[in-house]
Amino acid sequence: MEDLPCKGCNGMCCGPVPVTEQDLKIIKKKVKAMPKKSRMDLEKQPRNFGTCIFFDMEKDRCGIHSARPGVCRAFGYYKNLVCFRKPEMATQANWSPADKPVGILSIDITWQAF
Ligand code: SF4
Ligand code: SF4
Repeated sequence: MEDLPCKGCNGMCCGPVPVTEQDLKIIKKKVKAMPKKSRMDLEKQPRNFGTCIFFDMEKDRCGIHSARPGVCRAFGYYKNLVCFRKPEMATQANWSPADKPVGILSIDITWQAF
């Protein structure tokens, strides 16, 4: 799949996202495996209002990239998840989660849950 031009966006599209139980399980495993210092550094970073708790502002990328939720993987490639910097990439029919979301990351699921 062709890449989106995410460098320089500073997490512009990384806001509160819905997560399924399976998404959460994968994120928990990832966070648990992080060295304590990396976790603390990521957790404590000042972020723009509304930016996802896992967005790494210093590195300008997702701080849990390999474990990111399904909606984040789909973003930019589906007609209902359009990246405004490269809308032509959204060629697939509307995306829907594999399972019922159990909460919204950054709103009802915060760092305390990990
Ligand atoms: S998906 Fe689009 S809006 Fe989001 S960070 Fe990448 S280029 Fe920027
Ligand atoms: S989990 Fe990662 S990709 Fe998804 S919104 Fe948060 S920072 Fe962005």
